[in-house]
Amino acid sequence: MYDYAVIGKGLIGSAAARYLSQSGSTLMIGPDEPANLENHRGIFASHYDQGRITREIASDKVWAELAKRSLDRYGELERSSQISFHKPVGCVYIADQEGIAPYKQVAQERSVNHQFFDNAKDLQGQFPFFGSFDTFSALSESAPAGYINPRDLIKAQLHGAKSQGAEIIAETVLDLEVLKSKIKIHTGNDTTFEAKRVLLATGAYANAFNLLEKKLELRVKSETVCYAKVSEDEAKRLQAMPSLILDTAISYLNDFYLLPPILYPDGHYYVKLGANTAADSTLTTSRDMADWMRKGKSNMFIDNFKDVLKQLIPDLSAESFHTGRCLVSYTKHGKPYIDTVLPKQLYVATGGNGASAKSSDAIGHLAANLVEKNTWQDSLEPTLFALPS
Ligand SMILES: Cc1cc2nc3c(=O)[nH]c(=O)nc-3n(C[C@H](O)[C@H](O)[C@H](O)COP(=O)(O)OP(=O)(O)OC[C@H]3O[C@@H](n4cnc5c(N)ncnc54)[C@H](O)[C@@H]3O)c2cc1C
Repeated sequence: MYDYAVIGKGLIGSAAARYLSQSGSTLMIGPDEPANLENHRGIFASHYDQGRITREIASDKVWAELAKRSLDRYGELERSSQISFHKPVGCVYIADQEGIAPYKQVAQERSVNHQFFDNAKDLQGQFPFFGSFDTFSALSESAPAGYINPRDLIKAQLHGAKSQGAEIIAETVLDLEVLKSKIKIHTGNDTTFEAKRVLLATGAYANAFNLLEKKLELRVKSETVCYAKVSEDEAKRLQAMPSLILDTAISYLNDFYLLPPILYPDGHYYVKLGANTAADSTLTTSRDMADWMRKGKSNMFIDNFKDVLKQLIPDLSAESFHTGRCLVSYTKHGKPYIDTVLPKQLYVATGGNGASAKSSDAIGHLAANLVEKNTWQDSLEPTLFALPS
């Protein structure tokens, strides 16, 4: 029997498993990334990509604190695992004056290294490849903001957990049987494991299967991204490009995020643009999520994505474009749920709200502390992360 079991080998679960394995025997259980999304018959996740923006500045102080705690730990994690996942290329925010105000306030209050541009067109002095957004303001956050590779971050966390004795099992959990002094964990392969305490870090699938008696208030939304394939020379030309957030709406799309050229496993470089689209939908069942991830109509707005890319990087030389699909999970209060379901037995850490990749280390740390001590001991208030009553 394990002291701890973490269900969900994603960004939050892998971090929690690393922390928990410092204090007791730990089982980390969750399926690997599928080789082919279209044919996959199992569950999916929100981290199947090479880039997620990382930054301290946010429109909210709590998110900024979670990000800062995580950013501070990237270096040690990279050194101890020998896995590099962090590219500190900076991050730019573009919004109208009202939209940029909370970012500016958080940047100033927390003394984050940044530069403010009353007129976003002045960004071009520093980043000549960006278009001119002269009716907007901008803010440029310096390194260590930039992006992380979520797959490699998970690898680094699992490396740490394993070197501290954690066992890692690639299976899907279908059922939890809560007994007086332990929880029996039944998987899709008909295997049963036992642990004294269990943490559910199951992302978008928190309400799937027979894991929780009372379902969580979690909204899972379809998310679309557009990839522009660029040559190695074009990637070199844009090597000084930071990550970018554009807070506006343009032709059926809104809330844009842009990543600089990143090398993907197929050997090509891609610039990625993500946004909410007018066709985004709430995915209620595991079937809805699987249908979207396998064959959702993510191409519906591809021309709109191309137009926005042209506005953001007017002379971008792209060889081709394709879209990708993902899942975003929103909680009721807009912060991840990190809470106790059954004292000394069952806990949850889920609900990334589209912003938890960069902060997953801190979220996993908070969850691991809660599981280990069965009480909340942190300067951030537990109510911020509490399950709705
Ligand atoms: C397109 C897109 C862009 C994003 N961009 C950013 C960004 O720029 N910056 C940022 O900070 N965040 C970003 N995010 C959000 C970030 O990726 C998520 O917040 C993060 O992945 C959430 O981590 P998680 O561990 O909760 O979920 P996941 O990473 O999805 O992990 C959950 C894991 O649980 C497993 N699981 C589920 N059910 C079971 C079960 N029953 N048994 C076993 N295992 C199970 C799944 O297989 C999965 O591996 C983005 C998300 C998307 C979709």
